[in-house]
Amino acid sequence: MSNLVKLYSPFDLEISHGQGCYIFDVEGNSYLDMFSGIGVNVLGYGDQEVQSAISEKLNRYIHLSNFFVDPQAEEVAQKLCSHFDPKGGVIFSNSGTEANEAAIKLLRKNDPSKKIVVAFEKSFHGRTMGSLSITGKSVITRDFKPLVPNVKILPFDNSELVSSFINQHGSEISGVILEFIQGAGGVVEVDPYIVELLDKAREKFKFCVVADEIQSGLGRTGKFFAFQHYNFQPDIITIAKALGGGVPLGAVLISESYKQIFKPGDHGSTFAPNPLALSAAMVVLSKINKTLMNQVEQLGKFARNFLENNLPSSCVVRGKGLMIGVKTPVNSLDIKQKCYQRKMLINTLGEDLVRLLPPLVIDQKTLNKGLKLLCEVVGELMDQTK
Ligand code: PLP
Repeated sequence: MSNLVKLYSPFDLEISHGQGCYIFDVEGNSYLDMFSGIGVNVLGYGDQEVQSAISEKLNRYIHLSNFFVDPQAEEVAQKLCSHFDPKGGVIFSNSGTEANEAAIKLLRKNDPSKKIVVAFEKSFHGRTMGSLSITGKSVITRDFKPLVPNVKILPFDNSELVSSFINQHGSEISGVILEFIQGAGGVVEVDPYIVELLDKAREKFKFCVVADEIQSGLGRTGKFFAFQHYNFQPDIITIAKALGGGVPLGAVLISESYKQIFKPGDHGSTFAPNPLALSAAMVVLSKINKTLMNQVEQLGKFARNFLENNLPSSCVVRGKGLMIGVKTPVNSLDIKQKCYQRKMLINTLGEDLVRLLPPLVIDQKTLNKGLKLLCEVVGELMDQTK
């Protein structure tokens, strides 16, 4: 009997600790972690600088409330804005879904006469009611209706339909929210034509474009933000996952032109930004530098090449940097189980997709080992189906 409500299907492992790219169970077995806490543990486990920064703050205080300002809040905000709009603004949250809630509120308040928020099919923006309402996966949303009204979900793979809706309803749209590379949607990149058309339409209709970079941001794709692979600058960005080095921390980055929408009292949180998370974020942000991002880009190219050359030709490899999706004709849960038996942990989406989100600090040799094992496992399962 468990008092935990069953929401997940965890690995049958009791974890002792993590170190680098490996997780150790209490029996001393080590497992190569190829999804790093769903993209959170970008520096791997046991990063000394993250640990010291947290422990230094821990000895001074753990929580302060927003009646005080931790100086690191300003420093983290400044560092984040340096990657986006140096004159922009930041609102902290405790999670990705809360960051998106704040973004939706910003859209609502910016121009109350514009009612429609546009999002895309297969997107994932979180589990709280607002974020759920802009999530384009019906398996996740269907049991929770009525959702927040005036959300229009458009296809992610049909720029003509997107164009026709926007041209017809542009003046009613307050904002469009999208993942430039959908994560839970199957590691799928946005059609550059949709980006181009959003760029033109927002000029004409004066709506905001919100980039959900919660999974794809902070160096994951080889650039600081995934939208930087396109010639495009969003108005608002949401981030979380990697930001707090494993301690919950999210943020909304707002470009200068929209920075004044919220006034005191419009938004808040008891916990955010948590002081320990801010200390960790300072380290995380200093380590996600040009050198690391170039490395991520190179490793990503190597990984996709390796997978394309060594997986059966019926597999499809997608993604950018170390955000990699493999669509396979064999059941992905079988792949996950077989990898687990061989001491490698991977993440799957549905029954046909393997998602790899290894720590960004993974070295070539370790990555190679993981990719080789994955190819062997898929090959063996394919052979069994013959
Ligand atoms: N947006 C994206 C793109 C995500 O991948 C996730 C989580 O996986 C979220 C939002 C929600 O973040 P959180 O689980 O921290 O609420």
